[in-house]
Amino acid sequence: MRPSCLLPALLIGTVLPLQAHARHRVAPDPVTAQKVHKVQKVADNVFCITGQGGNIGLIVTERHAVLIDDQFERLVPGLLEAVKSVTDKPIKYLINTHFHGDHTGGNVVLEKQVLAIVAHTNVRKRMLTAQAKLEPAKRGGLPELALGEEDPLIKARLDIHLSGTDIHLVHYGPGHTDGDILVGVPSALVIHMGDTFFLGMLPFIDTEAGGTFEGLVAQISLVATWLPDTAKIIPGHGPVCGKKELVHYRDFLIAVQGHAKANPTKSPKELAESFDKAPWETDWKPNPQFVTWATLFEAAAGKGPGRVVKP
Ligand SMILES: [Zn+2]
Repeated sequence: MRPSCLLPALLIGTVLPLQAHARHRVAPDPVTAQKVHKVQKVADNVFCITGQGGNIGLIVTERHAVLIDDQFERLVPGLLEAVKSVTDKPIKYLINTHFHGDHTGGNVVLEKQVLAIVAHTNVRKRMLTAQAKLEPAKRGGLPELALGEEDPLIKARLDIHLSGTDIHLVHYGPGHTDGDILVGVPSALVIHMGDTFFLGMLPFIDTEAGGTFEGLVAQISLVATWLPDTAKIIPGHGPVCGKKELVHYRDFLIAVQGHAKANPTKSPKELAESFDKAPWETDWKPNPQFVTWATLFEAAAGKGPGRVVKP
């Protein structure tokens, strides 16, 4: 039976590019911030915090904590309350899985209390570009430690050894964006996959930010070859799950890709209409405001931005 459990509760977030997040920063709502977060234990010393935006990972080591993504600036007070409900240890590193504002919006506040923000080189680059349009007082929260090359096809890895716990950061290539990293905690058999993995909603491939459908299929397929059967996965959006869901996701992406390749003359809309959705639609639902079957096929066929564009 497929674990549709938790889906409605956890899919309350949205995925917003950095520019959209900048608009959110205009009207902070700290009262809301105190009430939106929920903490779920994923394994010993690894937690998933949900709120609004991408799923947050929290790793607690002997002396420090590490945060993976941070949603929005206005939610940071509530996020810190959620962290405190689990540990009093200081957050040493903040890791960004990619640059989107619903994963990095809290950077601008959290940079004052972490030792360093860590991300792929292209995350820093894209945040710099986006922040150039903001007034100076609103800039900040850039990753200080960057791994990888600007060419997203070049793989990269960084290991953090933190008081008894190893944390592995890997960049396998372009997928959701050109700066995705996956964060693994081998001792706990947990991996945070950022927005390379959507569960419950159709995946967004941000082709305008260097993401590619082909690359996403490649990296999901690669993870599926080595991830232990008992591993737990924190997706960027959707419920905590396991390898069974990852394999199903890989098969889904391959089916979408295969349908697009087999019908090169069909438009994305025609591809969407002629695709057999039945095996997949329980786990991947369209959002008419964001990613629809037609925009997914736009991304798969390399013919569009992978999301609904409002005029
Ligand atoms: Zn994203």
